[in-house]
Amino acid sequence: MGVRQNSAMQTLSPTLDVQQRASLREHNTFGLPAVAATLVRLASVADVRRVVDHPTYGLAPKFVLGGGSNVVLTRDVQAVVLKVEIAGRRLVREEPVAWVVEAGAGENWHGFVDWTLAQGYPGLENLALIPGLVGATPVQNIGAYGVELKDRFDSLDAVDLITGHTFTLDAAECAFGYRDSVFKHDLAGKCVIVRVRFRLPKPWQPVLGYLDLERKITETGNTKPDARTVFDWVSSIRRAKLLDPARIGNAGSFFKNPVVTEEQCRDIIGRDPEIVHYPLPDGRVKLAAGWLIDACGWKGKTVGRAGVYDKQALVLVNLGGASGAEVVTLAKAIQESVYGRFGIRLEPEPVIL
Ligand SMILES: Cc1cc2nc3c(=O)[nH]c(=O)nc-3n(C[C@H](O)[C@H](O)[C@H](O)COP(=O)(O)OP(=O)(O)OC[C@H]3O[C@@H](n4cnc5c(N)ncnc54)[C@H](O)[C@@H]3O)c2cc1C
Repeated sequence: MGVRQNSAMQTLSPTLDVQQRASLREHNTFGLPAVAATLVRLASVADVRRVVDHPTYGLAPKFVLGGGSNVVLTRDVQAVVLKVEIAGRRLVREEPVAWVVEAGAGENWHGFVDWTLAQGYPGLENLALIPGLVGATPVQNIGAYGVELKDRFDSLDAVDLITGHTFTLDAAECAFGYRDSVFKHDLAGKCVIVRVRFRLPKPWQPVLGYLDLERKITETGNTKPDARTVFDWVSSIRRAKLLDPARIGNAGSFFKNPVVTEEQCRDIIGRDPEIVHYPLPDGRVKLAAGWLIDACGWKGKTVGRAGVYDKQALVLVNLGGASGAEVVTLAKAIQESVYGRFGIRLEPEPVIL
């Protein structure tokens, strides 16, 4: 019969893979301790419908979990945790100006980027090595090295957690913004993204207008890198710069870079001429959150076993044995001191549960 089981599982439905009192420590890159009262693994769209139709889980509150690289778990989770494991990747169609490729929400993001390049579909190389799964990429419109998901997005399929109906959204309907989308607002907690499609442009042009990539051009003398070379460059830059969660638990950048008006920025520059800032095309100015935190003296500071990474103030870390409450206490103290000095409210990037 179609039952997937392991020793820690109790099978409550003939076809759903359910684990009671499941530790989530291995399922979040911060390595925070938390237990899910119920964890259901979703291997297919049919599994999502089974959860919706389930006599117990159907009406229960739910939390969708991907790779756990953008969550802070502050306590045990009473909501039914839906662990997305839907696999699959394929070329949907080739158009004169684009390849449209699709991946299941449970595919590892970096593995998928690597696969697209191996198939000869460039376009995602600047987003190499971002942790997590494909299904979470539209949630915060991931971005790195001058490319955001929205620049390569075609559409996605999601299943409504109340009705069990599958629906499709295009880019406009996803309402992408800077680390933002409809899935953080109107659709937060209401659906499971099950498949994402990407539109990879033909002809391909590298995106190289980022200081670290310009340095690679100078170092190597290669002014016309192909997509695989850009992928390798981005991967090596990230490996050198970013803290590997397998070594020290973290969730990447903990705060979004705040965006202020030109007037606010002038006012801050008047007081702090060194402030790192980037003018945006709409006239507003993006400030480097890491700089603001560093300027308040937070690098290397700790609350319990949670700390501010001593090489990059934007990254909060689990020094070993931290609780989610310690991480949140530290984050709030940082927010207060940045507000006190600059009058700017920092907004956390990860979802705090
Ligand atoms: C070292 C490090 C570096 C990082 N670098 C970057 C970076 O350069 N750029 C960047 O943008 N981000 C970065 N991140 C953040 C993170 O990797 C991304 O946000 C990633 O897309 C999260 O994927 P995940 O599968 O781990 O999502 P999770 O952490 O599991 O979930 C994140 C949110 O998405 C929701 N969600 C997940 N899957 C689904 C689904 N299938 N359907 C509906 N909702 C879903 C969850 O409910 C949750 O609200 C970094 C993180 C780390 C640890």
